[in-house]
Amino acid sequence: MAAALQKGMQEADALAAQFQADQADVGELYSTGSQRVNSNSVFNDIMLTNVQRLFLDGSLEGNGRTLSSDERTAIKNKEWKLWTDKQGNYIVPFYFDPKFPQSARERVRKAIQDFTDWTCIRFTETRLSDRSYDHRIRVSDTGKGCFSYVGLVDSVSSQDLSLDVVQCTDEVWEIQHEFMHALGFWHEQQRGDRDDYVYVDRGNCLQSHFAFSVNYGKLGPNHPFIDDEWLDLGDSYDYNSVMQYDGNFCQITSQPVISYANDRKKAVVPNAKRLSSLDVIQINKKYQCHRIDKKYLNLGMCGPGASAHKKYFIQGHKCDGIKDCEDGKDERDCIRQDADYNL
Ligand SMILES: [Zn+2]
Repeated sequence: MAAALQKGMQEADALAAQFQADQADVGELYSTGSQRVNSNSVFNDIMLTNVQRLFLDGSLEGNGRTLSSDERTAIKNKEWKLWTDKQGNYIVPFYFDPKFPQSARERVRKAIQDFTDWTCIRFTETRLSDRSYDHRIRVSDTGKGCFSYVGLVDSVSSQDLSLDVVQCTDEVWEIQHEFMHALGFWHEQQRGDRDDYVYVDRGNCLQSHFAFSVNYGKLGPNHPFIDDEWLDLGDSYDYNSVMQYDGNFCQITSQPVISYANDRKKAVVPNAKRLSSLDVIQINKKYQCHRIDKKYLNLGMCGPGASAHKKYFIQGHKCDGIKDCEDGKDERDCIRQDADYNL
């Protein structure tokens, strides 16, 4: 996971630059007077919309105009959306920036194929010139790292998802991580119930790379700007989610930044090579894929004695070479044994 560490460091710088570039747009959305948004160092791989930045900074209230709760709701509804087309299908149109290397495109396509195979999300590649969609993702190598917005951003027609080809296209899970952000997911360690599962020692994270709220902040009523973004979908914490940070990321001391709640010396180190069963379940629940086809929530039970966070596997994950069940039930008697799934 050294790559993840490097990636995080790059992202912090990247977002500072992106942040500067975005400032010019703020006034178009809201006339809030002087902009005091001082948050360059808090970002890691999540891009915030300008409105979200203003929430984070408190600037929406700081310029002589306090938003009513209706306005807040309107903004949130406007800024945080699931991807649907006009018919209600979960189509996520994307295109490659013309400068995105051809050699890396197939890797991206292959990584996002998992979403198609296991969820009702359809990432649909379009031509740059295709104007038939109101919203699209532009996959680019900005040279500034790896990052994405969270969910569909209504205020832009083409939202960036940056994949630094060197830093974050080697591993399937790294690509999938950014696309899961784009689908509306935050980091696993931000779950509202995370304290039952992990201990997050934010004070032990290097300040310069420390993403305060965006990467480690627990979602819920006490979060500075996101109070309803974590939806309890009824599934246990997933230590192996592609959205779970390596507990050894950005630490100052030898102690982990993210450890197990019942063992603070033991770092949480996800072993995800690609979407975990619980990742798939979460996506299918969030997008209510069972309305399209019941198969999307077709679960298999792991054997007796399975711990709470590994109770189920997705039938579509059977024989994929990755043990979703601790007892390996989902990989038993399989002909295909490609445990070293790679791009
Ligand atoms: Zn992330």
